[in-house]
Amino acid sequence: MNSSIPNLGTSTRGAFASLVPPVWRASTVVFDSLDDFVNRRTRLPDGFSYGTTGTPTQRALETRIAELDGAAHCVVFPSGQAAICSALLALLKKGDHLLMTDAAYGLAKSFAVERLQALGIEVEFYPPRIGADIERLVRPNTRLIWLESPGTVTMEVEDVPAITAVARARGVLTAIDNTWASPLGFAALARGVDLCIHACTKYMGGHSDVLMGSIATNDEGLYKSLRGLQSQMGLAVSPEDCFLVARGLDTMQVRMERQATSAQLIAERLAAHRLVRRMLFPALPGAPDHALWARDFRQSGCVMSLQLLDGPYDAYRALFGNLKLFSIGASWGGVRSIAAFYPAEELAKRNFCDVRGPVIRLSIGLDDPQALLDELQGALRACETSFNL
Ligand SMILES: *Cc1c(COP(=O)(O)O)cnc(C)c1O
Repeated sequence: MNSSIPNLGTSTRGAFASLVPPVWRASTVVFDSLDDFVNRRTRLPDGFSYGTTGTPTQRALETRIAELDGAAHCVVFPSGQAAICSALLALLKKGDHLLMTDAAYGLAKSFAVERLQALGIEVEFYPPRIGADIERLVRPNTRLIWLESPGTVTMEVEDVPAITAVARARGVLTAIDNTWASPLGFAALARGVDLCIHACTKYMGGHSDVLMGSIATNDEGLYKSLRGLQSQMGLAVSPEDCFLVARGLDTMQVRMERQATSAQLIAERLAAHRLVRRMLFPALPGAPDHALWARDFRQSGCVMSLQLLDGPYDAYRALFGNLKLFSIGASWGGVRSIAAFYPAEELAKRNFCDVRGPVIRLSIGLDDPQALLDELQGALRACETSFNL
């Protein structure tokens, strides 16, 4: 290389300072000596030996998420689903029994059924409102209880302290998908959970432009195992994506506060609408599991589900056709408002679910809440004639 070009990686200290953490890119990590190279893997789980296990950009983000979760350690993965699968693979082996909430994220359930069972792991789904009665389902080979609260789409709140108390007494590990609440809404590790998983894709990223997942824990052995699995599976996380999620964290609290306030207003108004049969939003007084939610959660989320009176699919087509501020799509938690639809048949596949019929899920973004409400009320008006009122 032309030696007149300064090496900006090392020569800028003092000459340039920024409020922004640098984005470090690397496949190869270089070493000062042969001994350093030969012993490179001893630098893990915190240090750097090769691109797949992370860069300083990734470590800075992991440290921030660990702090938010009240954890000693965190590992990030290329998506929320990659974090879920990694947690399950790191903890379970042939002959183990897994208890998983029936209201878990759909791909977590299908990974358990289609992949883990094929590896000789027993998978059993439990009713999300089981609480301390989970004791009845614990077997001598039960290794892990998987929680998600509120549950995907149907929003059942789990009695997490009751479940973790049973798990600790029986020597069973617990992991929670804490995406709905975020670290600001529910302090999972403080409530006795061993592993806290987030889809950073949602609130942390916050702008619908990045996929990532995180696992936080206070257990050093689990942390080492997760970092090892990251390396073995090649689950490298892009430093640019780490930069985006770190930037999202800077505004997460104000975004979430505003989105939660808007969501609360919209949920209250929708609950009073004559076409709305049921609001599934535990932050709403009178909604299912509100008391448990109020006991355990510090702040609300921005995603809610609702059910309309019985009506044909055409009614939903008309309703969604009248949405403009709301985009139609999956995912949630970002600054843009999103609407999704779950047909009745999808929920009917669950074993322990009291929600029958189709569900609309709304993610409330940073749009003006009154404008969102006007749009929803207009869309409901547009499909009104499809219902036998
Ligand atoms: C979105 C989501 C996931 C998956 O996250 P991806 O980053 O999209 O893979 C997992 N759990 C919950 C509760 C989610 O909402």
